[in-house]
Amino acid sequence: MRATVMYGAGHVRIETVPDAHLIEQTDALVAVARAAICGSDLWPYKTMEHSDTGRRMGHEFIGVVEAVGTDAHTIKAGDVVVSPFLWSDGTCVFCQEGLQSECLHGGRYGFDDVDGGQGEAVRVPQADGTLVVLPVGADDALMPSLLTLSDVMGTGHHAALAADVGPGKTVAVVGDGAVGLCGVIAANRLGAERIILLGSYPDRIALGTEFGATDVVSERGDEAVERVRELTDGLGAHSVLECVGLEQSTLTALRIARPGGAVGRVGLPQEDSVPDAIATFFKNVTIGGGPAPVRAYIEELLPDVLEGRIEPGRVFDRVVRLDEVPDGYRAMNDREAIKVLIEI
Ligand SMILES: [Zn+2]
Repeated sequence: MRATVMYGAGHVRIETVPDAHLIEQTDALVAVARAAICGSDLWPYKTMEHSDTGRRMGHEFIGVVEAVGTDAHTIKAGDVVVSPFLWSDGTCVFCQEGLQSECLHGGRYGFDDVDGGQGEAVRVPQADGTLVVLPVGADDALMPSLLTLSDVMGTGHHAALAADVGPGKTVAVVGDGAVGLCGVIAANRLGAERIILLGSYPDRIALGTEFGATDVVSERGDEAVERVRELTDGLGAHSVLECVGLEQSTLTALRIARPGGAVGRVGLPQEDSVPDAIATFFKNVTIGGGPAPVRAYIEELLPDVLEGRIEPGRVFDRVVRLDEVPDGYRAMNDREAIKVLIEI
């Protein structure tokens, strides 16, 4: 089968790899129908050291189950399924608490003999705990939005929950990438009164406004902090969603939180320490977030997608075939595309 392999920074190829096949009896074999390139795939695309063997890529996909092991009971051949970006057993203490991202028997796609999602097929471990059956056909028009449930929409929702978004709140979303835009959808969905989007790309801001952003701040750094203060009577936002992960964006997020507010961090941190620790201490700001347990959110968000109340699939502004995935990486890295959808 063909799949995406990264050999180093800027070096992505589509190659023939061993066919995905069942190994454990709890596995499912999924023929991928749609996959996506993630903003987090751009970190190795920028920085990965050369590897002779390469690294299989991709962790967001929807597909059709081709086969299951004898210990998989809730998933069957022919099911159209979405996978969260991590696999999990659904039964351990953390899964039962809704923190499937910490599953004691879970893991990541593309590592340890598990296929990446950007290919023709994937062996999904712990199929019963991981996969969610979708009540649609594999060619359904809702596929782009359903695919966002594998990562970006669930991650934006996680940021909103960690930032304690709710009715009447003023929310600020730092970052206008796919996760930030999904964070706007999540904040709107949870009843935020006002949503300030911090971003600078006109096409992304336009989409964010359609998703429910009420104000836009295009400045950066101290100027952005000042602008948010002006918009909030000098107080700052109740809830801040940090959807980038860089030091400056994290600092901005912490500084625009009002006293007693909360910051939900879902941008992959590029720094080892959290900045401004003393100032946030004296403001009683709660700092939360982390890798989203998107498996916990799929069933909750699914009806809103199926009934058209949210359209997170609009973050996909480019569609490529598998052969064109290397150019998809380039386009996302060059900010030509917000997010790239792969039709297998
Ligand atoms: Zn678990």
